[in-house]
Amino acid sequence: MNVLVINAGSSSLKYQLFDMDTKGVLAKGLCERIGIDGRLTHTNPKKEDKYKADVPMKDHADAIRAVIDILIDKEWGVIESMSEIDAVGHRVVHGGEYFADSVLIDDSVIEAIDACIPLAPLHNTPNLIGIDACKNVMGENVPQVAVFDTAFHQTMPPVDYIYSIPYEFYQKYKIRRYGFHGTSHKYVAQQASEMLGIPLEHLRIITCHLGNGSSVTAIKGGKSIDTSMGFTPLAGLPMGTRSGDIDPAIISFLCEHENKSAEEMLEVMNKKSGVLGVSGVSSDFRDLDNAINEGNDRAKLAKDIFINSVKKLIGAYIAEMGGVDAVVFTAGVGENDRSVRWDVCEHMEYLGIKVDPEKNKYRGRQMDISVDYARVRVLVIPTNEELVIAEDTKRLVEKAEEE
Ligand code: AMP
Repeated sequence: MNVLVINAGSSSLKYQLFDMDTKGVLAKGLCERIGIDGRLTHTNPKKEDKYKADVPMKDHADAIRAVIDILIDKEWGVIESMSEIDAVGHRVVHGGEYFADSVLIDDSVIEAIDACIPLAPLHNTPNLIGIDACKNVMGENVPQVAVFDTAFHQTMPPVDYIYSIPYEFYQKYKIRRYGFHGTSHKYVAQQASEMLGIPLEHLRIITCHLGNGSSVTAIKGGKSIDTSMGFTPLAGLPMGTRSGDIDPAIISFLCEHENKSAEEMLEVMNKKSGVLGVSGVSSDFRDLDNAINEGNDRAKLAKDIFINSVKKLIGAYIAEMGGVDAVVFTAGVGENDRSVRWDVCEHMEYLGIKVDPEKNKYRGRQMDISVDYARVRVLVIPTNEELVIAEDTKRLVEKAEEE
């Protein structure tokens, strides 16, 4: 079975075509500047170069057409015709309280995703447009599956998802903690269980997804019981450009003193804060490291705040779960930045956490980096959200065929 995985943003669309017999990526790429002019970058792993071209894309349907054209292209393609795409899996950011698992898309699913638009307007709107574009270009007969960033966290108990504001706001507007990056947290927890040879039901795991966006999740018995992102992906840790948790009174103070609307303040919290805001250097941890090496104190402060925030969450989740068996680092920073892993885990020997500096030298590969005698395993596990989307798509399509 070949599964096309689509991650549609407002003006971009990422794709990967999987052969599910081998779980290998046949091809992948990116459409950019959709609705502006259009640019396609395509990678066929059998070729050394990338295909890059300006392709007119007035909307997402044009982008999907461009993806299919390049997938069946004589020189750059990997399949003979569109009929070799058996199913499409879509990343959908917000499933609200409707979805605790991935789902085969039908009209009622589209309605529910649509109903979640107020919760994530910047994400769910393009996600829906991507679904619609695939339906238009590929036809009704190619099954499509939605995989939600929020679904994995639907197992959280109310004590972890209800905010201490008037309860009627939850009832009226569904304001609560949802959590995000669920696909990644779920994947690395499963990988951790396989690495350790212990069933998920018997494990307490803390997964640290540290990238441009970052979140930490407490996973007990395979279920997410608490996570750092909240009603939106702005909450929790400071990130590349996002503030993470702050005192909410700061917003109204700055609205007044900087003469900004709430919307403009939110833009500041989303785009100009986090390690970029504190350092004044960059949202990228590699740039931050370069600045630190050159003696930039604010870059160091930005990184230290980030590290301290991860450390505090790990402590909180250990307390909440009554212990921990494994801490997992994943995503761009978690997989690659050894100094973050080291500093986060430093001085936690009393909790059974001790990283081996020799093992911690490696980056970007799956491994156990804790000292042999440590009670808690510290693992680095590269995430693979696209593979989870492809696997869920296959599972649901096969299940539907059996019924
Ligand atoms: P992601 O959102 O998962 O793609 O992660 C992006 C972040 O990972 C950026 O801040 C990058 O600077 C960071 N990153 C990627 N590679 C490295 C590396 N070798 N060392 C430090 N940070 C890295």
